[in-house]
Amino acid sequence: MTALLWLRDDLRLHDHPALIAAAAHDGPLIIVYISEHHPALRPLGGASRWWLHHSLNSLSDALAQRGQTLIFRQGNPETILPQMVADYGVRQVFWSRRYHALTLDRDIKATLKTMGVGVKTLNSHLLLEPWDALKADGTPYTVYTPFWKNLFSKRDRIPLPQSAPKTLPPPVAACVSEDLASWALLPQNPDWAGGLRQRWDVGEAAAQTRFRDFLTQNLSTYAEHRNRPDLDGTSRLSPYLRFGEISIRQAWHEGLNAFEAGEAQAETFLKELVWREFSYSLLYHNPRLATDPFRPEFSRFPWNARPNDLRTWQHGKTGYPIVDAGMRELWQTGWMHNRVRMITASFLTKHLLIPWQQGESWFWDTLVDADHASNAASWQWVAGCGADAAPYFRIFNPILQGERFDPDGVYVKTYLPELSPLKAPVVHKPWESPSRLSYPAPIIPHQEGRDRAMKAYEILKSSG
Ligand SMILES: Cc1cc2nc3c(=O)[nH]c(=O)nc-3n(C[C@H](O)[C@H](O)[C@H](O)COP(=O)(O)OP(=O)(O)OC[C@H]3O[C@@H](n4cnc5c(N)ncnc54)[C@H](O)[C@@H]3O)c2cc1C
Repeated sequence: MTALLWLRDDLRLHDHPALIAAAAHDGPLIIVYISEHHPALRPLGGASRWWLHHSLNSLSDALAQRGQTLIFRQGNPETILPQMVADYGVRQVFWSRRYHALTLDRDIKATLKTMGVGVKTLNSHLLLEPWDALKADGTPYTVYTPFWKNLFSKRDRIPLPQSAPKTLPPPVAACVSEDLASWALLPQNPDWAGGLRQRWDVGEAAAQTRFRDFLTQNLSTYAEHRNRPDLDGTSRLSPYLRFGEISIRQAWHEGLNAFEAGEAQAETFLKELVWREFSYSLLYHNPRLATDPFRPEFSRFPWNARPNDLRTWQHGKTGYPIVDAGMRELWQTGWMHNRVRMITASFLTKHLLIPWQQGESWFWDTLVDADHASNAASWQWVAGCGADAAPYFRIFNPILQGERFDPDGVYVKTYLPELSPLKAPVVHKPWESPSRLSYPAPIIPHQEGRDRAMKAYEILKSSG
């Protein structure tokens, strides 16, 4: 009996419930990744496509070492999967659940069932399913702290990570694959990915190395250092988690073990993993999270989007060093430190009054960890319209944020070498320096931007 494992955002071999179930199946196994084209699916951004190419290559090699073949197909999964099932006499299909495009997955499952094929879906992406993390009255959480407390109280239910299967069933020799290179996931003319190549090692083995390094070198100082973009204080696991190259349960259980062994700062790490989980709960219950404000009154917000301002922000030329360094870090490396994500997002939605959806889209295109749930939920959180969001009137002062979290200016100088002659704290307000610099003046004075944002917020409140 032939089985088929459909891989999506679970590009690893260890702690992979769907792979383990498929490997236990008696008979040949087709393992397929589909580059999906479907109206219900958001096309991947450029940085994610770059990451995906390398991730698939790496997984393909790992499977080949175990005598298996990763099959590549491109197109509409609603037609590809039934066709493969028919062509190769597949009797059982496995996949890991995802939390966007739920209707699409339901439809595919229904079609396969009408063909007499068994479909088994498993959780490999979250600690608990969103439907197992509800309030006592059965409704979803909209506030993070009770969500965290509830999840922590249910920690015994989070399965322990499982090893990769020792052996895999043989592939189906007749099953043809497309050539990954023909998908053209890598940028060409221009090849803008030099900074990404320099920063990242992609794939499951690299994820494990990164996590080990974090546990041994950074976990014990995580709570102290996690807000400092000038220090390598966080795990940088986000792209690996996004593509499922490392299991969230492994991250959780190793963090929990450290916490229970007395490492107090590990609790903060666990809490961050639960922000991811909270974001997925929000997405599951609000499928339009990337486009529609969670607080509906924000659809009346008097945004004032000027395309030139958006471009200035995207190119890191606002004249505020911490904002510009963040935007250039993003462009060069496909990643940005969390504190700086908050500062740049606040600047766009408040100082520049540009709708958060435009910032979300830019991050979607440029982040290697661009995530359906965390990106949308975090943008809404910063913009003030999300669940348990920072209030709109909390407007980050980019100068003070720079001085506080990058006290010596090391971070801003890394991405803005034109500021290297300046010392802290003036490096965060270069307009006060007598030196001639090739660096722009602020796009708007901080106080003016703040006042304008507050006025817009007052208009929203009075229109309610
Ligand atoms: C405007 C904005 C957009 C964001 N977009 C994304 C995104 O597209 N993808 C993404 O993974 N994260 C996003 N985040 C959340 C956060 O910035 C990143 O997860 C974090 O910076 C990744 O770095 P790390 O792996 O070193 O995190 P660590 O501090 O080491 O945290 C460990 C893991 O916890 C999770 N996590 C940490 N903070 C958050 C958070 N606030 N929300 C959700 N999960 C979190 C991530 O999976 C992260 O890898 C965004 C935050 C903001 C403010």
